[in-house]
Amino acid sequence: MQTISERVRSLSASQTLAMSQKSAELKASGVDVINLSVGEPDFNTPDHIKAAAVEAVEGNCSFYTPVPGYLSLRKAIAAKLSRENGLDFAPEQIVVGNGAKHALANVILASVNPGDEVVIPTPAWVSYMELVKLAGGKPVTVSTGIADDFKITPAKLEAAFTSATRAVIICSPSNPTGSVYTREELKGLAEVLARHPQVLVIADEIYEHILYTGGDFVSLASFPELAGQVAVINGVSKAYAMTGWRIGYCACPPELAKAVTKLQGQMTSGASSIAQKAAEAAYNGPQECVEEMRRAFERRRDLVVRLAKEIPGLGVNVPQGAFYLFPEVSAYLGKTAPDGRHVATDSDLAMYLLECGHVATVAGAAFAAPGYIRLSYATSDENLVEAFSRISRALAALK
Ligand code: PMP
Ligand code: GLU
Repeated sequence: MQTISERVRSLSASQTLAMSQKSAELKASGVDVINLSVGEPDFNTPDHIKAAAVEAVEGNCSFYTPVPGYLSLRKAIAAKLSRENGLDFAPEQIVVGNGAKHALANVILASVNPGDEVVIPTPAWVSYMELVKLAGGKPVTVSTGIADDFKITPAKLEAAFTSATRAVIICSPSNPTGSVYTREELKGLAEVLARHPQVLVIADEIYEHILYTGGDFVSLASFPELAGQVAVINGVSKAYAMTGWRIGYCACPPELAKAVTKLQGQMTSGASSIAQKAAEAAYNGPQECVEEMRRAFERRRDLVVRLAKEIPGLGVNVPQGAFYLFPEVSAYLGKTAPDGRHVATDSDLAMYLLECGHVATVAGAAFAAPGYIRLSYATSDENLVEAFSRISRALAALK
């Protein structure tokens, strides 16, 4: 089509959102689909956070907000980063945007020039590669697999760097694999990164609270050798079950925060006044709700790992965080389904599971990791048990 820019034409649509949309359409047509595609907590936003939003509405908190976000919210985020992560960011280094995705887009657009390379260990969340392309940059993917717990080593990271490398994106706990780097592993990566001070380290820490290691979360920004080199991406979506409120932030070096603010001032202005007040209550209020949800996710993690291991031929890695399972499915590829369709790729398999098994998942290819599929277990135990029984039957029917 003539009127659509090259920039947008070269983008892939978000496969996580696309599969969720397809699942919703099938459901609307009367099919009983279980949606394990999109990743979002299935809990309601905690009451004290909702109450703060109601108060903001009643108090006519309805005017434009400062472009980088209310100072009171940025102070609450700075206090959170200090209290929970031992990080020292001033409110001036924090820019609140419309979700962590927006914060990430801002940081990428404000730091990547056309032709710059951005190193992305894969499997990686769908939007990383596309946002880098949007900025005119070149995603340089470094693949990992189930055998290495989906983690990149310092040597592999070092080998990916060239003189054109501008940034690297590290996500731990990971979407889509649930893998979590240990402190020692992060230290190894930090040592490599510190030898390349011109490389911006984008640390996506949105799943920090959904952790099953039994230990504390370690922020990549907490290594002193990376001082001034890291942009932390985080927000309220996952920890406080607030995906629809659309509040996320970046905490980054001052110059980058200024650039992001300039960009945001032209593109979206400050984020929603009401949602910011709710986010402030989330950071300043009681934190028990976060642990309650974490415990529920851990129980479900145990359930899905057990159910998945019962299915012959699936390669199952035990996730240490987030709420995704990322099984290896190559044993089921190259087969024929009862309706005659050939299931050649993980994308074919995800489509078959949706249309014939009535379970929505996302193909590994969307995360630059063909041969796998992603299942979100942020849903009830009952749904999970039923979904795995459907998946098991559908896979067994492939010949
Ligand atoms: N990073 C990762 C790894 C995610 O999984 C998500 C959730 N889609 C985001 C960022 C974006 O979060 P938000 O909903 O706050 O935009
Ligand atoms: N984080 C979620 C997922 O990966 C939300 C959808 C999206 O924004 O990609 O499914």
